[in-house]
Amino acid sequence: MPVRILVVEDEKRLADTLKELLSYHRYTVDVAYDGESGLDCALSGIYDGIVLDVMLPKRNGFQVVKELREAGLSTPVLLLTARSETSDKVLGLDQGADYYLTKPFDTEELLACLRAILRRKEEVVSEELEFRGLTLNLSSCLLGFQGRQARLSQKEFEIMRLLLHYSGNMVPKETLLLKAWGYDSEAEDNHVEVYISFLRKKLAHLQCPVSISSARRLGYYLSGKDEEKKG
Ligand code: CA
Repeated sequence: MPVRILVVEDEKRLADTLKELLSYHRYTVDVAYDGESGLDCALSGIYDGIVLDVMLPKRNGFQVVKELREAGLSTPVLLLTARSETSDKVLGLDQGADYYLTKPFDTEELLACLRAILRRKEEVVSEELEFRGLTLNLSSCLLGFQGRQARLSQKEFEIMRLLLHYSGNMVPKETLLLKAWGYDSEAEDNHVEVYISFLRKKLAHLQCPVSISSARRLGYYLSGKDEEKKG
């Protein structure tokens, strides 16, 4: 599955260079050119990491990190600062950034920092997601319930991982499409429905009382059998 990075940088040339560099290193990259659209993108929750400039129009990088953390998102953030004063770095880290680099930086250093914050994220993520006894092993892609197991395809895995991550809250269809198929894909809503139906069959096969409910075409959520008719 591609690692998705958001670059928020208002200097067009640097933004393009970063996109090129990260794409070359097999990251999937989106770019936002100001703090406001950067925050909007970041709040979608689809990114594995964010490279965030501090001096930005509309909202600075510190405010973006602060609002991101206040919204409950723990996406790792690498701050890029042109200023080297210690107070700025401390402020950035206090607001919830994971790391900072002072411009100008060396590309190898940037890549190493990015790998470090992405790794840190993996360490805190547990190996298994769980909802009412239904478990998904993140390394084996096995979905399990009371000792019974079903193997998931890559798309099924991405969708189930999101559903479990939201643990009963609604996952917008848009988010499922972006995470499992990506921005450039021509996948449509009915692709999601097809995979949801595959997953429902697997849940039935596991004799698991958890089901996937849909909320008026807007999205999907996990529920116990007893509450599935509420949506
Ligand atoms: Ca800037």
